[in-house]
Amino acid sequence: MTVEEEAAAVGEDQEIISWFEGVADNAGLVQTQTLRRIIELNHGTEYLQKWLGRDLQIQDLDPAALESLFISSVPLACHADHEPYIQSIADGDTSPLLTQEPITTLSLSSGTTDGRPKYVPFTRFSSQSTLQIFRVFPIRAGGRILEFIYSSKQFQTKGGLTAGTATTHYFASEEFETKQKRTKCFTCSPYEVIAGGDYKQSTYCHLLLGLAFSDQVEFVTSTFAYSIVQAFAAFEELWEELCDDLRGGTLSPRVTSPEMRRAVMDRLSPNPSLASKVEKKCRELEGSDWGRLIPKLWPSAKYIYSIMTGSMQPYLKKLRHYAGYLALVCADYGSTESWIGVNLEPHDPPERVTFTVIPTFSYFEFIPLYTQNKQDSSNLVVTDDFVEGEPLPLSQVKVGQQYEIVLTTFTGPPSFVITSSILGLYRYRLGDVVEVAGFYRGAPKITFICRRKLILTVNIDKTTERDLQIVVEKGSRLLSQTRAEVVDFTSHADLAAHPGHYVIYWEVKGEVADGVLDACCREMDVSFADHGYVVSRKTGSIGPLELRIVETGTFGKILEYYIGNGATMSQFKTPRCTTNQVLLRILDRCTVKRFRSTAYG
Ligand code: AMP
Repeated sequence: MTVEEEAAAVGEDQEIISWFEGVADNAGLVQTQTLRRIIELNHGTEYLQKWLGRDLQIQDLDPAALESLFISSVPLACHADHEPYIQSIADGDTSPLLTQEPITTLSLSSGTTDGRPKYVPFTRFSSQSTLQIFRVFPIRAGGRILEFIYSSKQFQTKGGLTAGTATTHYFASEEFETKQKRTKCFTCSPYEVIAGGDYKQSTYCHLLLGLAFSDQVEFVTSTFAYSIVQAFAAFEELWEELCDDLRGGTLSPRVTSPEMRRAVMDRLSPNPSLASKVEKKCRELEGSDWGRLIPKLWPSAKYIYSIMTGSMQPYLKKLRHYAGYLALVCADYGSTESWIGVNLEPHDPPERVTFTVIPTFSYFEFIPLYTQNKQDSSNLVVTDDFVEGEPLPLSQVKVGQQYEIVLTTFTGPPSFVITSSILGLYRYRLGDVVEVAGFYRGAPKITFICRRKLILTVNIDKTTERDLQIVVEKGSRLLSQTRAEVVDFTSHADLAAHPGHYVIYWEVKGEVADGVLDACCREMDVSFADHGYVVSRKTGSIGPLELRIVETGTFGKILEYYIGNGATMSQFKTPRCTTNQVLLRILDRCTVKRFRSTAYG
């Protein structure tokens, strides 16, 4: 960058920071304006005309009146309500169904939360907002980034639209390139490695190039923390082969993709002294169970940056083990549907991180959620898990209260963001439960609690992903007396036998005596705090918890099953509960030990 360009960039950063503060100060007003803009751009669409009528005269309504009309006329919706429209768009219908402007690209959500990929229209706005976040919170310039990122295959829908996961579009976008140029920090791997299509081959190349540039790596990152943990678990197995390649400037035959091979070979040259240094460190690390692997092999790395909250929390312990004293910086909170909030305090550990909701990202509503016993008002709606209150606008949320997020997605250019195509989801229930922890100026700071959907239920019991995570965390603490650890886990409510019972599957690394696993099983059974579960266990209407140990590599097979079905490593989240028959067959086939809890008599 020239001096002039540098000065312009600094000016731009400052402009964005003051813009951001202004937006946060006036969050309520900005939301009302954001919604008005969304409606202005899309009131001619089939979806909005269905609910707002064909004769809406927007100019006759002030933004607040339009907001009231929108909320009272357009119903809350879930993916199934938008899906017929999105399917028609994918099939080539170019009439204004959800958006006035034709949609040219579709994003697939990871699909691992719901079990199958969902189509969500994608706009350049998603990439631009990522860039914008990056500019607001600049990283240290210079050096390299070790990024464990992976694209899925992009493909054409029947109607000729390009479909792929949101991260896939992003890694292929100009913004991804611009971000690197702008921050002067470049990813170690070329695009051919990111887009190689085989996550094992890509991981090998990420690691090899990461080692080749080891003294320049400024930080280590991935979209979700799972990918980093997976990559270093692979490193433990592959390091000797990696050292051979470093030494000779060669590439293992395990990488078969010609494009990937060419791109990696272009960046490698023989480096025997580095190979010997890495080899020596690896021998030492092997003896200390690979603790502090990252700072030892990447001495210039300052921090790890990734999504570490929510369903990534179970991988934190392993991540800390690899990261040693390096800071763990939580990446922002977003989804394929919309970006939601940014982490303004990079120093906060994952356990305390909050995300400030950005009022220009989308129009947000918050459905208050109460646990059943707090029901005290007749206008509350009882649903399967929580009791819901009336949706509130962003400016009316209360500290300490939990909410489900509802999105009406942005469909036009807010300040600093240029969009080229348009997306439209209206009063869309995202299915995420968040808690308001405070405010940054007028914008709420939220913590991610869990996915809303119940994952385990046999009769009156209600277990969420977070409940299960806590239970597994408590059960696995008993392993601390051994050198073993839980690599990954999932669960299933077995209703085939009577009484039904919960089954928890663990993949364990290291040797553990059966007596310890038996104790873990019992500990987990008594750790489910849900009143319905405890009562049902005491009365015998839910059977004893079952812990099944699956063989090494089982969760790798699950990952492969999802990737085979269009998911991407970058957005993969192990399903914490499953009723999917293919997965259950994999888990059954791989079960090597079973334990039944002896708690509750
Ligand atoms: P995807 O389906 O791949 O678009 O993933 C989006 C989902 O990932 C969100 O709806 C959340 O459930 C989860 N998620 C995204 N960012 C975070 C975060 N920072 N903390 C916890 N969960 C997150």
